[in-house]
Amino acid sequence: MRNTAYDVVIIGAGPAGLAAAITLRKYADVQVLVIDSGKADKIRPGESIPPAALSCINFLGLREQFDCAGHFAYPGNASVWGRDMVGFNDAVLDPLGPPWRLNRLVFDQILVIATDERGVAINWETQYIEQQPIANGYELTLYERIKRQKYSVRTQMVIDASGAGAHFARSLGVKTHIEDQLLGLVRFSTIDSGKMTAQTLLEADKNGWWYAAKLPDNKLVSMYVTEAYTLRQMKNDMAENFSNGIRQTQLLAPRLAPLMLSDHHYYKFPVYSSFLEKVYEERWLAAGDAALCFDPIAAQGIYKSLSTGIRAGKTAVEMLTSNFTDINSAKMYQEYIDANYHTYVNERNHLYQQEQRWPQSNFWKNRIQAQNKAPNTISESKREFQIL
Ligand SMILES: Cc1cc2nc3c(=O)[nH]c(=O)nc-3n(C[C@H](O)[C@H](O)[C@H](O)COP(=O)(O)OP(=O)(O)OC[C@H]3O[C@@H](n4cnc5c(N)ncnc54)[C@H](O)[C@@H]3O)c2cc1C
Repeated sequence: MRNTAYDVVIIGAGPAGLAAAITLRKYADVQVLVIDSGKADKIRPGESIPPAALSCINFLGLREQFDCAGHFAYPGNASVWGRDMVGFNDAVLDPLGPPWRLNRLVFDQILVIATDERGVAINWETQYIEQQPIANGYELTLYERIKRQKYSVRTQMVIDASGAGAHFARSLGVKTHIEDQLLGLVRFSTIDSGKMTAQTLLEADKNGWWYAAKLPDNKLVSMYVTEAYTLRQMKNDMAENFSNGIRQTQLLAPRLAPLMLSDHHYYKFPVYSSFLEKVYEERWLAAGDAALCFDPIAAQGIYKSLSTGIRAGKTAVEMLTSNFTDINSAKMYQEYIDANYHTYVNERNHLYQQEQRWPQSNFWKNRIQAQNKAPNTISESKREFQIL
């Protein structure tokens, strides 16, 4: 028979939700359920993590699995940004060590297996629909996609790790503030022949910026981050326009030209700089992109989701053990999130301000304006990726 009562229900089985689940079970003998509206092998964007992310992986007890998973340390970045010359940002000087390029599917699987091994059920293809406050928490209505049926569970508290949509918090009326909103057109390819540098390649152009990185298993990811308007103009022949765009770059084109590439798959992802107006109330917390969302220019999203997931897990244990009477830990969690977002915004602004070569370009003007204007609240638009 299905269990219908939990101490904690976590909405979202991305890095934030699973880090929270593993942390909860590390510190407390609590009944935890994770639900996710997607499938277990869902494509998630992001493959580059900073060296600091290893501290989260160590904390979660997953270093051994991480080391055997085919991820590789990469030597740093080459970029054409803010000037016509190639600049290098060498990881060799970083005292924390090199950054890592993930085999993302395997990385996600490691988190799923670890969650399962710690006695936490993950219900895939199960969507959070709505909540009803009850005496000791919430009754949640969930929709099981395979059986096409709704059911409800009771829980003492919720961790909202549902990504940028922050579906639980928003169903309580909590707003997400969007400071900037872009789109990422991502292409995954197989490298059939030719040698690709392990460096991250980054290059600004008039209407956005390009990124390319070698992945484990002879794969390549390339991405163009731009505004919706520019992508609409590319829409008639997205693949052709994408390839033409790369061919016009100064840094990426000569490094990608010798490669024989096949098996292209294109995806479109929303790219947000956003934060939730509050990340806790008496019986819920938000973690990962649900709490704060970073532009991939920062390459900090996965690390932030792991670290806020861990922190949310610890905070949830303190809330549960005090029977929700002590809110100091939740307040400290809010301060931690605020400080994280503040640091991110300064870094993002610094990066976008460095590019002054196209003063008339709407893309670059809008990035500067985004830094100065009041944030929008979230629209009801769909906040998931699309396969093209
Ligand atoms: C184009 C792009 C490139 C990026 N590149 C990088 C990179 O190189 N490095 C990096 O560190 N970061 C990168 N990021 C950011 C990174 O992908 C995210 O910050 C990180 O994956 C967020 O993890 P999360 O667990 O918070 O959310 P997610 O991984 O988004 O997980 C949220 C989960 O919640 C589920 N969900 C949503 N709604 C519901 C619901 N109603 N009911 C049940 N489940 C629900 C979803 O199915 C999803 O699985 C990139 C982002 C983008 C858009």
